[in-house]
Formats: sequence, C-alpha cells, structure tokens
Amino acid sequence: MRQRIAVVGGGPAGLTFARVLHHHDHPVTVLERDPAPDARPPGGTLDLHEGMGQLALAKAGLLAEFQALSRPEGQAMRILDVDGTVLRDWPARPDDRAHPEIDRGQLRDLLLGPLDVQWGSGVAEVVPGTGDGVLVRFADGREETFDLVVGADGAWSRVRRAVSPATPHYTGITLVETSLDDVDARHPGLARLVGDGSVAVYGVNRALVAQRNSGGHVKVYAQFRAPLDWHAGLDWADAEAVRSSLLALYDGWTAPVLDFLHHGTDFVHRPLYALPVSHTWAHVPGVTLLGDAAHLMPPLGVGANLAMLGGAELAEAIAAAPGELDETVRAFEERLWARAARWGQMATAGLERLVSPDPGEALALFDEVQPS
Ligand SMILES: Cc1cc2nc3c(=O)[nH]c(=O)nc-3n(C[C@H](O)[C@H](O)[C@H](O)COP(=O)(O)OP(=O)(O)OC[C@H]3O[C@@H](n4cnc5c(N)ncnc54)[C@H](O)[C@@H]3O)c2cc1C
Repeated sequence: MRQRIAVVGGGPAGLTFARVLHHHDHPVTVLERDPAPDARPPGGTLDLHEGMGQLALAKAGLLAEFQALSRPEGQAMRILDVDGTVLRDWPARPDDRAHPEIDRGQLRDLLLGPLDVQWGSGVAEVVPGTGDGVLVRFADGREETFDLVVGADGAWSRVRRAVSPATPHYTGITLVETSLDDVDARHPGLARLVGDGSVAVYGVNRALVAQRNSGGHVKVYAQFRAPLDWHAGLDWADAEAVRSSLLALYDGWTAPVLDFLHHGTDFVHRPLYALPVSHTWAHVPGVTLLGDAAHLMPPLGVGANLAMLGGAELAEAIAAAPGELDETVRAFEERLWARAARWGQMATAGLERLVSPDPGEALALFDEVQPS
C-alpha cells in the first residue's frame, strides 16, 4: 500500500517536493494556508542556481519550461557608492545559464501545474506517535492522519514544533521592500540605473538594492541595521510616513538613488530572522522539515534554491524506496543538515558584510564571488 504523505506549505520547498513525487506517480497531499495561489503578492525574483534550484526542476521534469521563462539577462549587476559613483558594472552574459532569474509567481505556477493543492488548509499542530500515524490538526478544527508529514511551512513553521524547540532570532538587520511599476515608461532614469538586472548601493550600515522583475516591475529593498522596534509609532498603512522614515535613514545619499524610495509604493516591513546555523533535531518518525522551516537563513540568494533541492531530493529518495520511509527520511536529514550548515555560515557572514559599518566589505564580497 502507498504511504500517506502530506506536505505542509506550498512555497518553493513544498511544491518542489510534491511535484517530484507527482513526477514519480506517487500521491501526496499538499496543505497550504493561503486561500488561493494569488492570495498574496508573490514577492521579487529568484535566481535559481544550476546545481540547486535548476537541478531540482530537472528532477521534476520542468527544466525546459524553466529555461523558456527565466531571464539570464537578470544576472547583470551594478554597484554604486552613496554619491552615485559606479564602482562595478557586470553585464549579463545572455548564454550563461548558471543562475538566471525567474519571478516567484511564475515559479509557483510552473511548480503547481497539475498538483491538487488543498488551499485554505492552515495547519495548527502536528502530533506524531499516535497509533495510526501522525495527526494533523487544522486551524478550522479538522483532523487527518498521515504516515509522513513534511513541514515546508516556512520561517514560522508550526510543524517544526513537533521535532525541535528552535525559533528564529532577529539578525539585527531589517529590510523594507517597496516596488515600482511600468518603470521604463514612468521612470526611465531609474530604469536605466537598474538596467536588465540589479543595482546595489552600499553605505554605512545601510544598503539599497533595486532588482528588475518581468513586465517593467522593479522591487526595491532598503536594508539597514536597526533594533527590532526601530519603527515604534510608525503607521505602516501610512505610506508617506513610512517613506519619510526611510528617507531620513538614507539622508545624504545621491538623489537618483533616493528616487527609488520617493517613487516606491506598497512598503512591506521584513525584519530578517534566522535559525541557528547548525539547526538539527532528534529524528522523529513520521515528521521532517524542508526549506526555511529547517534552515531559515539571511537572504543571500540561496534559501529558495536549498528549499527546492531538499524537496526534490527527499521526494526522489521516497519514490525510489517507498517501503523504507523512515530510513529514507533519516538519511535525508543528515544530508540536509550538513549542506544547510555550510550555506548558513556563508549567508550569515555575507549579511554582516553587505550591511556593514564599512561599505568596502560589501564590494569585497562581490569581488570574491563575481566572475571578473
Ligand atoms: C527579500 C528576500 C529575497 C530573497 N531572495 C532569494 C533569492 O534570490 N534566491 C533564493 O534562493 N532565496 C531567496 N530568498 C529566500 C527564499 O525566499 C526562501 O528561502 C524560500 O521562500 C523558502 O521556501 P519555503 O518553501 O521553505 O518557505 P516559504 O516560501 O516561506 O513558503 C512557506 C509556505 O507555507 C505556507 N504556510 C505557512 N504556515 C502554514 C501553516 N501553518 N499551514 C499551512 N501552510 C502554511 C505559507 O503560506 C507559504 O506558502 C529571499 C528571501 C527574502 C526575504
């Protein structure tokens, strides 16, 4: 008899896991809290690395479709100082498939394909070790039992509580996201500044990154060191008040860069949290974790890649040995922990350098990782 497998969360980790199982004709139940795929704005673009996110898509049989959608030109990168001087300008190499960009919404739709997601299924609690398997309690009071519950429910995972007491801690760095639409027609100067890819500006304890998405949409990320309560008294529904607070934080920066904040709409507050770098847990039969639920780390371009690769590998391993579910999950967890610890260290150290008292650190970091 086929095992009853549920994945909680329809983000990159959960959908990749489910889609690879589907590719192997293995049934899986996908439980997602959002009431519909487009219930929330999907967020900015993701660059999917050849040996990680793209490998995961290959395991799902989706690489060709990804290649048709993704944007290698999005890899272009320009770095300025706060006076507007161009310090680095790396053009995109259009034939370079190493880590092209894709909009999150496009990736979600690609992964969703034929999957039958149970939308509006927020999980409140997971109880392992009942006689009949692992009990899932939903926020609306329903209950259902599975042989394996995979927690792919992100940073504030409910499933994680069944295996680990760990909770994310604040990194000391906050991000405020805003965006501009129809940038080529409405803000041609900013469109030129951001080019086909991204422009990043690094100052003392502050950074501002603008990233082109498809369809003339630009996401802007203001990142700065601040106590968690830096915004006490600020009304997030009052866009002009948020804009003024941000402009005060970036006081003295060159006007064209500040224009990203002047023209941005829909400010979203995202204090950056992380799990301990070497987060592991004592194996609990019937429950495991994937993606940010397992290894939330600062956003340095690998979180979704790791989430997808983990999801694909676990699904592939389950499909290859369906009768050995517990041994398969145990072996997978060891591999996941080792890889996540390596990348977690890199991302933690990287964030410290990108938003640093010495802006030269950010430039040095890029020089280390960018091809010359
Ligand atoms: C600004 C920013 C930029 C980033 N850029 C990149 C990048 O370029 N490349 C990259 O690789 N990574 C990037 N990341 C990291 C990346 O976004 C995450 O690592 C990735 O989304 C993790 O995927 P996930 O599926 O584990 O979790 P999530 O994407 O958080 O998905 C979790 C899903 O679970 C659902 N859920 C939550 N709780 C419940 C519940 N109780 N019951 C049911 N469903 C639930 C949520 O609704 C959500 O759909 C970035 C992050 C940020 C903040």
